[in-house]
Amino acid sequence: MSLSAQPKASLFIDGEYVEGEGPELAVLYPFTGETIATLREASPEQVERACASARRAQVEWAAMAPVERGRILSRAVRIIEERNEELARLETLDTGKPIQETLVADWPSGAEALEYYAGLAATVTGQMIPLGQDWAYTRREPLGVCAGIGAWNYPSQIACWKAAPALAMGNSMVYKPSEETPLGALKLAEIFIEAGVPAGVYNVVQGRGQVGASLVTNPDVAKVSLTGSVPTGRKVYTAAAEGMRHVTMELGGKSPLIVFDDANLEDAVSAAILANFYSSGQICSNGTRVFLQEGIKQRFLDRLVERVRNIRMGDPLDPDTNHGPMINAAQTAKIRAMIEGAEAAGARMVCGGTGEGAFIPPTVFADATDDMEIARDEIFGPVMTTLSFFDEEEVVRRANDTGFGLAAGVFTQDLTRAHRVIGNLQAGTCWINTYNLTPVQMPFGGVKMSGVGRENSAAAIEHYSQLKSVYVGMGGVDAPY
Ligand code: NDP
Repeated sequence: MSLSAQPKASLFIDGEYVEGEGPELAVLYPFTGETIATLREASPEQVERACASARRAQVEWAAMAPVERGRILSRAVRIIEERNEELARLETLDTGKPIQETLVADWPSGAEALEYYAGLAATVTGQMIPLGQDWAYTRREPLGVCAGIGAWNYPSQIACWKAAPALAMGNSMVYKPSEETPLGALKLAEIFIEAGVPAGVYNVVQGRGQVGASLVTNPDVAKVSLTGSVPTGRKVYTAAAEGMRHVTMELGGKSPLIVFDDANLEDAVSAAILANFYSSGQICSNGTRVFLQEGIKQRFLDRLVERVRNIRMGDPLDPDTNHGPMINAAQTAKIRAMIEGAEAAGARMVCGGTGEGAFIPPTVFADATDDMEIARDEIFGPVMTTLSFFDEEEVVRRANDTGFGLAAGVFTQDLTRAHRVIGNLQAGTCWINTYNLTPVQMPFGGVKMSGVGRENSAAAIEHYSQLKSVYVGMGGVDAPY
């Protein structure tokens, strides 16, 4: 079976595939390390051309009735649904994630966002403000050209989560996927054209960080939406501020998952598995600091270790595989070093280890302390750190003792405690008695260093539009002289 995934060309500008004029970019299949495509980065002139085509196309797109834009985006949803199997396979080749996951999570969640905003497009209205004889009204207008920059863990979902509200509101987009996973966004660009999105409304440029940086400062760009790490977020936010551009920052986390003694044990263990090991742990909102109350700690760890024995690590294209390789060698080495560092610092490994080749098995540490690196830094791999606690006040204080604030979860049967604890946690996206579910209807994003703005839900409409206020004089104009 051929594993080639070579696209027609590397970039998508003004409605068509265009070959990049910058340095080569090899796309590797994380499972075998073989090259599945060779792309070329966009040159600075090509980035400018993509932005200019987005600026031109945006005018026509914004002038279209919102219901018509919605209809076109709905056609894209149907195309994605029809091609889900082929798209999932490509996503697996690009990311190494098990086909078992990509069939149900990646493009399906992207399509869900497009479906949601396609429906919402025509419902966005302004306000009429009575002022006596005079009156005022507001118009919610698009921002113009939006730059999207994505991470490698959910490349196609991230591309759709950004494009859906942007396009629904009449903006255009130039999107730069992560250099690690450049293939899905090109498919999205193709699908948009097939669905009837005008040429130039959605463009894709490829490249490493500096191509992203040139996008952020392009004079045509009015807004930047980044999904990435905190250090990159800081750079991009600073660069965007120079031109007073709007931003959405979806950054990293070190989220707490708090399990009280009275929790349903089986559900809490399931949630901790989802919150740490799905997508080989490469998920920003993961609950990687699992706080266990003393009374449930041992039972939780015993059951967790039993359940982790059910993993099937291996070929991501095998439908039975539920744990895939890490994205690349550098990430694997970084995670291995953190695992070794945790053992050296005195954390007790209850299962897992440093693994072999591209694989790191689900790894659980017990008896960790808050000051250890594994309890403070984002690992972005299948490593769960468990910490014990005695009471509510203590665990809330310790859970909040981090610069991050992306997500948090609590497991308890006590209704009032659940809501009280969530109310006191510094996190943008929270779950009670479940974890990591991100339906498009629910706003998603972080507080503190984990981000600015929200993706998904009606909240994202505000992040992809701006208000114009219009005062309407109905009588004469009084002037002092
Ligand atoms: P990075 O921050 O390394 O990169 C994110 C994107 O930014 C990539 O496309 C990257 O390009 C690009 N980039 C890098 N430098 C610049 C720059 N100076 N200007 C503009 N763009 C730049 O993140 P990763 O790809 O390693 O993804 C992992 C991180 O993403 C984790 O911290 C994770 O928590 C976070 N994340 C957050 C999510 C959220 O919604 N909150 C969801 C998923 C991940 P290139 O890769 O080509 O260098």
